[in-house]
Amino acid sequence: MSPMLPALERAARWLPLALGVLLFTASPLWADRLVTTDGRILEVKKARVEGQGFRLTFDNGEIVLKDSSLVKAVEIEGDMSDYVPKDETERTNLAKGFVKYGGAWMSKQAYEDKLALEHARTLKRTEEMRAHADFDSGWTKETAHFAIRSNTSPEILDYYAELLETYYSLMDNRFGINPSPSLRRTKMSVNIFKNRKEFQEYTKVPQGVAGFFSPSDQSLNFFHDYAENDISNWVSLHECTHLLTFLIDPQYVSQIWVNEGVADYFGSAEIAVDKKRGKITITPGRLQTDRVLTVQQAISEGNDIKLENLFKIQRDDFHAFEYSHAWSFVYFLNQTPKYKKGFDRFFKDLYSLAKGIEYEIVDYASFGGGRGKRVPPEEIRRLLLSCLGVKDSAVLEKEWKEFIAKVPIEGPAARFKRAYYMIVQGRCSPTPRTPSRPARRRSRTWNGPWPTSMRPSIRASRIPAPTTRATAHE
Ligand SMILES: [Zn+2]
Repeated sequence: MSPMLPALERAARWLPLALGVLLFTASPLWADRLVTTDGRILEVKKARVEGQGFRLTFDNGEIVLKDSSLVKAVEIEGDMSDYVPKDETERTNLAKGFVKYGGAWMSKQAYEDKLALEHARTLKRTEEMRAHADFDSGWTKETAHFAIRSNTSPEILDYYAELLETYYSLMDNRFGINPSPSLRRTKMSVNIFKNRKEFQEYTKVPQGVAGFFSPSDQSLNFFHDYAENDISNWVSLHECTHLLTFLIDPQYVSQIWVNEGVADYFGSAEIAVDKKRGKITITPGRLQTDRVLTVQQAISEGNDIKLENLFKIQRDDFHAFEYSHAWSFVYFLNQTPKYKKGFDRFFKDLYSLAKGIEYEIVDYASFGGGRGKRVPPEEIRRLLLSCLGVKDSAVLEKEWKEFIAKVPIEGPAARFKRAYYMIVQGRCSPTPRTPSRPARRRSRTWNGPWPTSMRPSIRASRIPAPTTRATAHE
């Protein structure tokens, strides 16, 4: 529940190191290995304790770490010429010409043998990475519900396989995902690209789209962000929520505020990995400081979206400002004990079209040009208020805004996150649009060419429309 972005902070602090490592493609004869607290291994010519931190020497320069908070261990100390022994035993080993490797002292010959072995291992790994570098020849894995392909690495593929299956179970327990027999037999495709550029080139999505679920291909698509894992986790779970609601009822045509608010609420999760067993625990409902900031600012400026208006917003009018409001409303309901159960019932009943819910049949281009079932906004409103046991929406409106206005956030950190996410998502307007501006109908639809395997029809954009088209989502 940290208001900062810890991973982001870490990434920024390690950036100079990462650049240093890039220059260091060939293993030098003498190389130290520095293991970071998050498990990354950096090859450094020399890593020596200096003050509270380390001085790291690379071929082309040096980096000084002020403290050792991000360093788990320095594993190889090959060039022992200026090594300061810690005790008498080390002094004796050093005098014998021994070197320290992986925490153990050994003869120089043994050390060089180990290095040669490691070099061979690295070479094999490099060859394997090269063989799977193109997306089409990426690694694949089938799990209970997904057929996953990725050209990142086998480890990252395993991570997402576990993450998505864990998420499936979590949502199944909470809402009950009961696909039709034919859908149950089909494994949803998951395509994980190794960077944004490749993802955009391959899927032809416009700039700003970080991931999408395509109902016609039954595929979930996104890229792994090496520098900022938080974004990849969020995007993958957000889009997976669209996939799971599709499985509940493929014909259901969603209302945008529910669809995106819920995907964002559950997609923003604390993710804990048990390193020994690889098991993942997902705790949904992580605070989105940037979205809180947007709504808090809107409240204080008096241009916040009113609940009755949120209920009616259409797809084309739904952008970052509206996402923030929808997320904050779903967040408020889930964090308020008297509403949490009612919200779960509302969501489950709505997506499974429980008895008594009125809906209309509409043309539905997003799913093979068939027919869709759409619940009108006023019926969704009725169902929500009834499930929550609220008679007057004005009461709910007041409670929602008071709740969000009180959420403590660090202003600068939230502003930084909002700006950073805009940059990485390729959104160029830093000011959230407000509902007071007229003619805000900047459509995010596109009709660009698609590879045959990925025709444009995105769950996030399930618009009843006469032609096949797709809409990016933020
Ligand atoms: Zn979405």
